[in-house]
Amino acid sequence: MSTFALIVAAGRGTRLPGDVPKQYRVVGGKPLLWHTLRPFLGSGGVESTLVVINAGDMARYQAATEGLDLPPPVMGGARRQDSVRLGLEALAEMAGEDARVLIHDAARPFPSSGLISRVCSALDNHIAALPVLDVADTLKSGKDGLVTGTVPRTGIYRAQTPQGFHLPPLLAAHRRFIDEDVTDDAALMELAGHQIAMVEGEKNAFKVTNASDLARAESMLAAQMDIRVGSGFDVHRFDEGDHVMLCGVRVPHTQGLAGHSDADVGLHALTDAILGALGEGDIGQHFPPNNPKWRGADSSLFLKEAGARVTARGGRINHLDLTIIAEAPKVAPQRDAMIARVAEILQIQPSRVSIKATTTERLGFTGRKEGMAAQATATLALPGEAP
Ligand code: MG
Repeated sequence: MSTFALIVAAGRGTRLPGDVPKQYRVVGGKPLLWHTLRPFLGSGGVESTLVVINAGDMARYQAATEGLDLPPPVMGGARRQDSVRLGLEALAEMAGEDARVLIHDAARPFPSSGLISRVCSALDNHIAALPVLDVADTLKSGKDGLVTGTVPRTGIYRAQTPQGFHLPPLLAAHRRFIDEDVTDDAALMELAGHQIAMVEGEKNAFKVTNASDLARAESMLAAQMDIRVGSGFDVHRFDEGDHVMLCGVRVPHTQGLAGHSDADVGLHALTDAILGALGEGDIGQHFPPNNPKWRGADSSLFLKEAGARVTARGGRINHLDLTIIAEAPKVAPQRDAMIARVAEILQIQPSRVSIKATTTERLGFTGRKEGMAAQATATLALPGEAP
């Protein structure tokens, strides 16, 4: 039986200042919704993920989910439960009634894969499953600023999402209790008299409701960043010509460099270093030299594409270090221009780019001035993943 995820992202998030709903607030370089979707899209147990949005947020939604493999979103309703019901109706058409569904708040960006699979597994034996946390604080009742009593904590739990259900009974409960006002889907199943299994929740699966929650999400993402280092190496042979392209800068020389593209060894080594840190192949794989499309190409295209892949993964380039290996031409006079050009191509600060040069003491092919070489290291920060 297939399991689908339904992400409820139609709310307006009025408790935060500003007019951008919280699920579209940028945290760790990406909208909150993007972070929320990642664990579901990466979960082997979830067949497809459907998002319910506010009709006014279409442009924000498209920007937040660019490049993600998602079916078209469903337009939500006035209340959370209306949005869920509309999502479930769409899901029933898409998946058939014989499916399972995980309903999750868009404003909870960190459900772990373990949490998702605990809820999924519970659905093998129950028609509804709910992640819960114990209540650690003592509970008080109060009125007019004064305590009126202490509420026993025994048997009291905090409900989280994703909440898992067999689709038919949940959809039936939503339709039947349409006039009730509830704050989660389990409440409708309770009204319908169904049993709901409790599974262990997670403190990190908290809901972002105010500015301090956003700050907590930001620091959690920073702490989880995965630091990756990649290396790149490239060589081009000297040929006839009057200049070489080095790091996107035209450098006058008594020879040119042979190559299918503009033969920019610096940009090629940097591109491979970034692709290496991403674990996404090499420059020849993305831009095959036998493809006429890349004949004489400006190599900034290759570097830009590698940079776009970092952004698409929600990452950033922390640092690039490039060494150009040649007897000539001299790099020093153009070093600042090269740094500025690389920073411009990748839209990063020039302080994150280092370009150095060395000779090989007249040894080897570079020493004999037969060609130029370059080697690069790229250090990236990528959103953390399970080991
Ligand atoms: Mg090359």
